Amino acid sequence: MTASGVRVRIAPSPTGEPHVGTAYIALFNYLFAKKHGGEFILRIEDTDATRSTPEFETKVLDALRWCGLEWKEGPDIGGPYGPYRQSDRKDMYQPYAQELLDKGHAFRCFCTPERLEQMREGQRAAGKPPKYDGLCLTLKAEEVTSRMADGETTVIRMKIPTEGSCDFTDGVYGDVSIPWDSVDMQVLIKADGMPTYHMANVIDDHLMKITHVARGEEWLASVPKHILLYRYFGWDQPVFMHLSLMRNADKSKLSKRKNPTSISYYSALGYIPEALMNFLGLFFIQISEGEELLTMEELSEKFDPENLSKAGAIFDIQKLDWLNGRWIREKLSEEDFRDRVLNWAMENDRLMAGLRLSQTRISKLGELPDLAGFLLKSDLGLQPSDFAKIKSPPEEILEILNTVQPDLEKILEWNVETIEAELRAIADRMGKKLKVVVAPLFVAVSGSSRSLPLFDSMAILGRSVVRQRLKLASQAVAALVGSK
Ligand code: GLU
Repeated sequence: MTASGVRVRIAPSPTGEPHVGTAYIALFNYLFAKKHGGEFILRIEDTDATRSTPEFETKVLDALRWCGLEWKEGPDIGGPYGPYRQSDRKDMYQPYAQELLDKGHAFRCFCTPERLEQMREGQRAAGKPPKYDGLCLTLKAEEVTSRMADGETTVIRMKIPTEGSCDFTDGVYGDVSIPWDSVDMQVLIKADGMPTYHMANVIDDHLMKITHVARGEEWLASVPKHILLYRYFGWDQPVFMHLSLMRNADKSKLSKRKNPTSISYYSALGYIPEALMNFLGLFFIQISEGEELLTMEELSEKFDPENLSKAGAIFDIQKLDWLNGRWIREKLSEEDFRDRVLNWAMENDRLMAGLRLSQTRISKLGELPDLAGFLLKSDLGLQPSDFAKIKSPPEEILEILNTVQPDLEKILEWNVETIEAELRAIADRMGKKLKVVVAPLFVAVSGSSRSLPLFDSMAILGRSVVRQRLKLASQAVAALVGSK
């Protein structure tokens, strides 16, 4: 334990590509720990077994490491309060659930998914927010025992006060009051024995001695459930700080449909981590114009959690570009720059895999930039006319591009085989030859109709870059359709 005793954490769920929003929250926690001489730890919250994958976990760790946010304890390095992956802690939660049952703070619920759906349906029809109606709250102990003995499926839910409100002070939002009757009787332990996020999160924060919980504002409404659990267990609650979400320039929630949101997209395009951290860190400090270029050290000195705004952090890519350029020009020595470029080109085996694919396709080395340069480019500069050469009419191209985009999101593990299988399935479903489906993709992904094999190229580029290129391609083709 450090002198200050401050312990903060980032607790990502490995259910998708690491998001810049995760880096933003992680950076806040990291700077908070640095400022207070405390500790910053990493915990993997993978209680949602249907959506969490080891591949995404590796990616989260890699992405946060790339950001330069070093953690003191975590699933990769261990620590005194491990394990740091919730699925590895599964058995630790049961006794706490039992304690809540014994103390009468929780109850077993036997309601089937069908009944719950019916109940919600009725609530929706009556214009009420969906909430458990408490049917199992009054079951007699003997009935619970006998239904369990019969092997009926059961979950454990927490009891919620029926009157008054939960009042607390949030580090960003100030005094908050949420009426108890708007709080659901949250499931704590699911039918498969796994805890829910709320249960595991509170127990782990307590056992891991977390003093300050800084996370996205989407969790603010969950605080009453968490505070109640701390009370039920008789534990001190941490200080809560809910940070406003990052937003697009039009103030909408940052989403990958509008802006690239994956950390891997920014690293693939050659943003340097210091610049990205500098950009995100500016949301947490007050500075005058001209003082923007800051190292992590300088950010932590200026860091001021008291000064956070609720307005939302605007993800202004032009500002990021400007800062990235300044970092490259003003902060990197010649050697450092050279090393960064080489490392960047080698990232994800991009250069090596590109060369392997190119060798059989060139007669002079000088043809390489034209053939494989798209693997490194940040912008292909696609024009509507690039698609005019494809045999299919623009309407068909647009249909293909718009069908492929959401379907590629469904691929769990992004590799040559899964990409090929998905594109074949799409072609089948659309009743088109594979050749017809891949032709516009070639142009969208590589900028040319003659280049390296498509599936390999997509695998090398990574999902986040492919997503963005397909989006830009759709826009270009839409212009073609519109101009007809
Ligand atoms: N696993 C949650 C998330 O990914 C963590 C929220 C929290 O920090 O409590 O958003």
